[in-house]
Amino acid sequence: MPKKNKLISIVISAYNEQDNVAELHRQLNANLKKIKDIDFEYIFVDDGSKDKTYENCLKLQKKDERIKIVQLKRNFGHEIAMTAGMDYARGDAVIFMDADLQHPPVYIPQMIEAWQNGKEIVLTKRVDNVATSKLYKLCAKAFYYVLNLLSDMPIMESAPDFRLLDRKYVDFLKSFNEQDRLFRGLLSWIMPQDNVEIIDFVAPERFSGESKYNFIKSLRLAVNSIVQFSVMPLRLATGLGAAAAILALLMGIYVFFEHFFMHNPTPGYATIMVTVIFLGAVQLICLGIIGEYIGKIHMEVKKRPLYVADYIEKKAKKNESENNI
Ligand code: UDP
Ligand code: MG
Repeated sequence: MPKKNKLISIVISAYNEQDNVAELHRQLNANLKKIKDIDFEYIFVDDGSKDKTYENCLKLQKKDERIKIVQLKRNFGHEIAMTAGMDYARGDAVIFMDADLQHPPVYIPQMIEAWQNGKEIVLTKRVDNVATSKLYKLCAKAFYYVLNLLSDMPIMESAPDFRLLDRKYVDFLKSFNEQDRLFRGLLSWIMPQDNVEIIDFVAPERFSGESKYNFIKSLRLAVNSIVQFSVMPLRLATGLGAAAAILALLMGIYVFFEHFFMHNPTPGYATIMVTVIFLGAVQLICLGIIGEYIGKIHMEVKKRPLYVADYIEKKAKKNESENNI
């Protein structure tokens, strides 16, 4: 009996990428055709696109039955889109990538080679990103610095969602069912000490279209990541309260001495206003921090399904409509 080839699933999350999917498919084929002893399946996850992404994926599927489409019923966000793709992937290894060609398929053979040589996780490290400004890079650097300061485990900087995971780690990741998920953080949580390879790459400009992440969305993701991986901000709130109390005490002592010994009391209005505003601000910040965590608990306890999707396979007799948890 002939030996059965191993299967690799390539999970591609796409939101409004109508002009990128065909070119990505072409480049994937061009780079993977040399690999003979492995079968591939391409899982395009349409994350509720408003353009023709889904229709274009269907067209591609007519030509290439290795294409599977997970059509999310609305826009669930990149992290959930990757989760959905991972849930449907059947491969012995799964490669995650973006649809905009900022994760160039030309690096995939190298990733597969590392996997064949026994690596269970192959990460990529962006040594440069042609598309982002200096200011954005600086903000990202600051964010990772703060995240690593607060988080219990190190989270790698410049590590995009372009990676290969062995089935073993895909199954580990599938056992996480939190709503708010940051893949690279979850991965850090289960990351082994050995068997990891890191490949450097330069991210080019997107092939077509615009980035879905503006400053506000990136900031939201940054706050979410910190709240998801650390309770340190809650402790920080206590620390802030304690610092304010000490400051107020020092100020009290100063006012006392000023009044009784220096006979030159400052008029009260300014000091009172400054104190009231300062303490008000501290309290609001602390409430905000607590609010962030309560908001997360509120969302998590409902245990809603992570997404709702259709799975479209060419060989299947009918389309299955499924809800997934
Ligand atoms: N994406 C997604 N859902 C979203 C936003 C983005 O599936 O809600 C996909 C998007 O189509 C792309 C990848 O996630 O393939 C990365 O997004 P983008 O290129 O906009 O981010 P950037 O590379 O600018 O950080
Ligand atoms: Mg991109």
